[in-house]
Amino acid sequence: MACVSYPYDAPVSQSLYDRAAVVTPGGVNSPVRAFRAVGGTPRFMVSGTGPYLTDADGREYVDLVCSWGPMVLGHSHPAVVEAVRRAVARGTSFGTPGEGEVELAEEIVARVAPVDQVRLVSSGTEATMSAIRLARGFTGRAKVVKFAGCYHGHVDALLAAAGSGVATFGLPDTPGVTGAQAGDTLVLPYNDLDAVAAAFAAHPGEIACVITEASPGNMGVVPPREGFNAGLKELCAANGALYVSDEVMTGFRVSKAGWYGLDGVVPDLMTFGKVMGGGFPAAAFGGRADVMAHLAPAGPVYQAGTLSGNPVATAAGLAQLRLLDDAAYERLDAVSAEIRSLVTEALAEEGVAHRLQNAGNMFSVFFTDEDVRDYDTARRQQSFRFTAFFHEMLSRGVYLPPSAFESWFVSTAHDDRAVERIAAALPSAARAAARAADTEKEGA
Ligand code: PLP
Repeated sequence: MACVSYPYDAPVSQSLYDRAAVVTPGGVNSPVRAFRAVGGTPRFMVSGTGPYLTDADGREYVDLVCSWGPMVLGHSHPAVVEAVRRAVARGTSFGTPGEGEVELAEEIVARVAPVDQVRLVSSGTEATMSAIRLARGFTGRAKVVKFAGCYHGHVDALLAAAGSGVATFGLPDTPGVTGAQAGDTLVLPYNDLDAVAAAFAAHPGEIACVITEASPGNMGVVPPREGFNAGLKELCAANGALYVSDEVMTGFRVSKAGWYGLDGVVPDLMTFGKVMGGGFPAAAFGGRADVMAHLAPAGPVYQAGTLSGNPVATAAGLAQLRLLDDAAYERLDAVSAEIRSLVTEALAEEGVAHRLQNAGNMFSVFFTDEDVRDYDTARRQQSFRFTAFFHEMLSRGVYLPPSAFESWFVSTAHDDRAVERIAAALPSAARAAARAADTEKEGA
């Protein structure tokens, strides 16, 4: 990792981190939060309002992580808070069906045309794990195709060459996943239809599904090439496999109907999470009625959850989705475009080679001079420049994802004042990126 100095300290966060490290492995409950890719003290946040987060040391940040996607209306949106308050007052979990689940499922089905039916779960990981099981149960086949750099949660079979934290830490795979669990996973280069066609040719009648991020955001933002998703769909259909589009990150964020709303390619199964939970643990998978009919209790493929369709989570998710109208997406797109051009301007001014890539309102910056189209090109970037850039932004009150391999997220609450703060921080962050040296390469 590049050596950078941290021009500020965070004593309360540091003491919380020290306590956390005693009782929790690595001091965090999800690896990328630990700042290991960028160094320094992870900020322990105590509150969030609109586009701002406040840490335990009382420092305020413009938040460009938005809880890794869910907080699309900003923090503590009054309508979401009120819906949660009302739901909590009625009881927090019943272990029975409830009206909120029906309403949330209806909202998803109404927004996303390829989804005839949907099953609610509690995390994106559960959603993709269950979708894979259903695809295998439906087709009677074992093999799954995934793409290097795509992250679908920490499902055993899908942790081969995954993005997000796995990319951040450069882990090829993870101990604990056995050869048998990953043995039916075929990992292919992203954006390479020839590789997919070759896999179908090499394994006739064996591939249950191809799972892909609808538009990847877990190796940084690497959109599908024109025709890639449509090609996947065609190859799947021609070979009796299901096309599973993972919209946990893009779903309800990049348009009313997620990435599907932008590219119109019809998947057999889809997975959702993040935005649909309004900041609570709610996720889902859904799709073709004949495939979903194989799910218990309608069919033989088992899947269940004590807290699935939790009334507080569904209330939060519904309140959030109902506010996400055309005007909200216009706002998200506009603020994202504004920030992207500010970042590019600042980096260009300092002569820093970079590519700013976006998928709708999701975006990230790669410190490289080549177009990033797959995991290999993403990994060739000079991430030591991101480290310097990140810390300078942090010290000036802008909270970026603490990794060069993650999407940045905006919310409808990012107003002029928030954008001005980002603009004010960018010139010195760009200078820091320009000055950054790859100390590892230099052997320092
Ligand atoms: N799929 C995608 C595309 C994701 O980005 C993520 C999480 O970042 C997941 C699945 C897993 O979701 P969760 O973290 O809720 O388990």
